[in-house]
Amino acid sequence: MPVYSVPLPESSVLKALEGANKIRILGCGFCDNWSLAYQNDQPISELVKQGDQTIQVPYSLNKKANHYKKLLEEKDIECGVEIIPMLCQYSNDFDLLEMSGDAPWTRSDFIVRCWGSDAVLCLGCSAAFIGLKKRLGDEVKVVPGLRSVGVLQVQAYLDDSKKYVMIVKEGSTVIKNK
Ligand code: SF4
Repeated sequence: MPVYSVPLPESSVLKALEGANKIRILGCGFCDNWSLAYQNDQPISELVKQGDQTIQVPYSLNKKANHYKKLLEEKDIECGVEIIPMLCQYSNDFDLLEMSGDAPWTRSDFIVRCWGSDAVLCLGCSAAFIGLKKRLGDEVKVVPGLRSVGVLQVQAYLDDSKKYVMIVKEGSTVIKNK
């Protein structure tokens, strides 16, 4: 069942990023994207043609990440956004990742792109945050942008335009931690 996360107050996130001139925003395209889509009544994903393939681009998390990017760039802060599937995998020991073979979530080239940044804003669940901390160590400050508060069961459908995957709110359930 997907983890359910909610955004931390924007003012406290921006405060934690103060002093950083180069920031990378990383988010997970799964549960976190679904959580934001559920809260904001937004599409989960947009179907985009890429050559002869159709891919699903996470909608809600991209929107949140680009909102932060805009706010930071207005302060002349250099900022990049990357949505990575299953950031939680990076909380595993390195050998476990290697045992997973060439799955997309074992690739760590995005970590290399974080080196040289002053801070990374993690738009991910608690496991994503731990994964990034584990990979980036003390070299780059990792600031959480979301807080995990429970689990979410999602019912979804493809809308009439066949362009967006939408949530059936009344068919979906959030179970919050006590
Ligand atoms: S990193 Fe968190 S939000 Fe992303 S797939 Fe893993 S558990 Fe879900």
